[in-house]
Amino acid sequence: MPLSDSILAGLRALLGNDQVLTSQEDLIPYSFDGTAALRQMPGCVAFAATMAQVAALLKFANANKLAVVTRGSGTGLSGGSLPSRDSVVLCTVKMDRILELDRANLTLLAEPGVTTLAIADAATAAGLFYPPDPGSMKISTIGGNVAENSGGLRGLKYGVTRNYVMGLEVVLPDGEVMWLGNKCVKDVAGYSLKDIFVGSEGTLGVITKVLLRLIPKPLAKKTMVATFARMDQAAEAVSAIIAAQVIPCTLEFLDRMTIRCVEDYAKIGLPLDCDALLLMETDGHPAVVAEEAAQMERCCRDCGCLELRIARDDAEAAQLANARRSAFAALARVAPTTILEDVTVPRSELARMVRFVEGVAKKHQLRIGTFGHMGDGNLHPTFLTDERNHDEMRRVEEAFKEIFAEAVRLGGTITGEHGIGVAKKSFLPGFAGGAQMRVMRELRRALDPNGILNPGKMFD
Ligand SMILES: Cc1cc2nc3c(=O)[nH]c(=O)nc-3n(C[C@H](O)[C@H](O)[C@H](O)COP(=O)(O)OP(=O)(O)OC[C@H]3O[C@@H](n4cnc5c(N)ncnc54)[C@H](O)[C@@H]3O)c2cc1C
Repeated sequence: MPLSDSILAGLRALLGNDQVLTSQEDLIPYSFDGTAALRQMPGCVAFAATMAQVAALLKFANANKLAVVTRGSGTGLSGGSLPSRDSVVLCTVKMDRILELDRANLTLLAEPGVTTLAIADAATAAGLFYPPDPGSMKISTIGGNVAENSGGLRGLKYGVTRNYVMGLEVVLPDGEVMWLGNKCVKDVAGYSLKDIFVGSEGTLGVITKVLLRLIPKPLAKKTMVATFARMDQAAEAVSAIIAAQVIPCTLEFLDRMTIRCVEDYAKIGLPLDCDALLLMETDGHPAVVAEEAAQMERCCRDCGCLELRIARDDAEAAQLANARRSAFAALARVAPTTILEDVTVPRSELARMVRFVEGVAKKHQLRIGTFGHMGDGNLHPTFLTDERNHDEMRRVEEAFKEIFAEAVRLGGTITGEHGIGVAKKSFLPGFAGGAQMRVMRELRRALDPNGILNPGKMFD
């Protein structure tokens, strides 16, 4: 049912008249996220500026059984912030203050709408380091990062968002506020409830503050690019580097299609006469960096790399990292619909998975550009398609199923970092199994008995 005038008046009374959008043209930008081919108009969009407003809104929504979809910047790639019909989209971007940077304890406290880049910049300005760096970091919010447990280009050495969350302020669906965690390095008092909210995709509560761990800034780094005639050689080089017990901070991969699209888009002189490109970065103490870089070079040459280029300075290193970050945008220019996937396999199975994806593309006559966090075993096969072409979309669906099934068969997972949302909820029961599904459902029911938060996401 569309939201009634009295409900809208109630929301305006809580948040302010101009903080609730209802006109069609105002709602359209909030009717989709970064996920292709998913659209749904909300009932309204509500902007909260404080935790107290979030709590009041949830209390009101719970009493009136209104669906609430929390939204950061809407860059999610599994439909997590896609509105459900007639829902209230609760947008956090106005809660955008960094509240504290504690140099004694190496922590940073922020509101959920602060961008990932602003967090990273604040850490850098204090001579510290916040490593998680999703490709979307210029616009994604820290609340969205926590809710998705986002990864990024440095996951291999530094881990993902979860590894940096020390505390959370969470508003439960009935409006009650909880503070979880603290600045202590050790804390085993009770269940680690904080961890349930990391990766909960907006289904258990609304995160209104995040306490993050910062670490010392690495003293030196070296960035390299290696090219290969065949994709499986690049995958083998990654396995060789890991087997040599070198853990670079970045070990990213682009296939031929992606290299060409990125070069066409960013024009930074990437080598084009190759089937695969590895972007590698090692950081730490200068002596360790030099030794690791030499070992990585040896591994690449042993696996038959065509060319290996070392970035001359920070500017060139940043240019190469930005080229990798632009992979999705560059591929998106090629076809009307870009569907980016997110399978992860144990690193020992990478070469096999890469070959499988190539085979699936051939079998179903589809265009796929593959790139990803190869050091994490996390591949993003990206389908370049057109949602108006029903026959091709059917083949894309088939290809997905085969790729997910193969990833699971190889000991991998159906999503490494983009989450379940709506895009993958039909695959979750097969992957998680009955017992896990039951516990997840019961947990959700315990926290949100009226099912108001992000209904229809992750599972029905
Ligand atoms: C070009 C591009 C590159 C990307 N690269 C990466 C990458 O390298 N690694 C990676 O992991 N992801 C990546 N992503 C996916 C996406 O950016 C991340 O999932 C990001 O964390 C989403 O942040 P957001 O602020 O846009 O959240 P949204 O998309 O608005 O929301 C995502 C989910 O979080 C929930 N949510 C948001 N805020 C809150 C809150 N305060 N409390 C509770 N729930 C909340 C929403 O309900 C939704 O379920 C990329 C996306 C794009 C478009």
